[in-house]
Amino acid sequence: MPTVSEKYLKKVDQLDLPPRLLLGPGPSNAHPRVLAALAMPPIGHLDPKYLEIMEEVKDLLRYTWQTSNEFTISASGTGSAAMEATLANTVEPGDVVLIGINGYFGHRLVDMASRYGADVRTFSTDWGKAFTLEEITAAVAEHEPKVLGLVHAETSTGARQPLEGVSEVCQKHGSMLLIDTVTSLSGVPLFLDEWGVDMAYSGTQKALACPPGLGPLTLGPRALEALNNRKTPVKNWYLDMSMISKYWGTGKRVYHHTAPVNMNYALREALMLVVEEGLENRWQRHQDVANLFWEGLADMGLKCYVDKEIRLPTLTTVCIPDGVDGAAVAKQLMADYNIEIAGGLGDLAGKVWRVGLMGHNARAENVMLLLAALKKVLFS
Ligand code: PLP
Repeated sequence: MPTVSEKYLKKVDQLDLPPRLLLGPGPSNAHPRVLAALAMPPIGHLDPKYLEIMEEVKDLLRYTWQTSNEFTISASGTGSAAMEATLANTVEPGDVVLIGINGYFGHRLVDMASRYGADVRTFSTDWGKAFTLEEITAAVAEHEPKVLGLVHAETSTGARQPLEGVSEVCQKHGSMLLIDTVTSLSGVPLFLDEWGVDMAYSGTQKALACPPGLGPLTLGPRALEALNNRKTPVKNWYLDMSMISKYWGTGKRVYHHTAPVNMNYALREALMLVVEEGLENRWQRHQDVANLFWEGLADMGLKCYVDKEIRLPTLTTVCIPDGVDGAAVAKQLMADYNIEIAGGLGDLAGKVWRVGLMGHNARAENVMLLLAALKKVLFS
């Protein structure tokens, strides 16, 4: 054998991870059963057993999203991949795309839509607020977009966007409704079909209690029609759902890219856990745990940034008290207690901490631990 050069070799030790409690905006700690599924031996991505698993993932996602959309899959990649897939597949150059911006992820939708040549229009409200139906109606009537994009659960602010009535407005103006459910799927009530949502995406690493790596994606009939009637090819080969549908469909499976099989085992297990618990129970658990946290914060004299009516149970923005160095507190929580929380993004940088109580972490004992640790760091 030819001799290798040692100059390229940098020695690393065996992986030794700190036992973090992940109470930031994501990832959250994965459920032990999900980790066990992840560690199962890979099988071929066209193996009949794997095709069965794919069908189960599709069915389980439909339940979790409350939709009967035939095209409901897990896109390879994180939530951003599924996010980009919605726009890449339905938007052609010059199409009007309207995005409601009330936080960081609205800006990301704008960035993505503009990269696909959309004529992007926006309407905004303050970070931490949600749009009223009147505001949405006025914006849709003014711009008559092909796609209206809204973030159901804004992870940067902790605000929930109510969606009742929005699809009626969209349908009146021939617009499709696209929603981001990364921080809501399985943690916050979500009814895609009842709310007339045409496209939605999510991530695995939040309330699903699965590691990051897949982007659940669902496209309704109108979104598929837009895809099928495109005049130009989808500008993103990896995320072209006209090709990927031939792998995820029920006909002859056509290879597109090698599916991340182990991640799909993990997602299947995570979704099975959702079904075992029952969606209503899971939503209730997230709400109960959030209520406990909010009460504990109030007892300590700390305030939440978002009004209770639209405050997400999955992600709470806590106002950093005057004179407190928020970053230093987060750093100390990690150093002393192995607890991860995060600071604010964009308009809320330096103003809030972001605390996630999602999936397997949405449990009373984690709330008590965090409150006790926070008290110690802030007041002693
Ligand atoms: N949308 C929202 C609301 C998110 O919170 C995130 C991630 O935190 C994303 C999109 C992007 O997902 P990912 O980071 O998994 O690519």
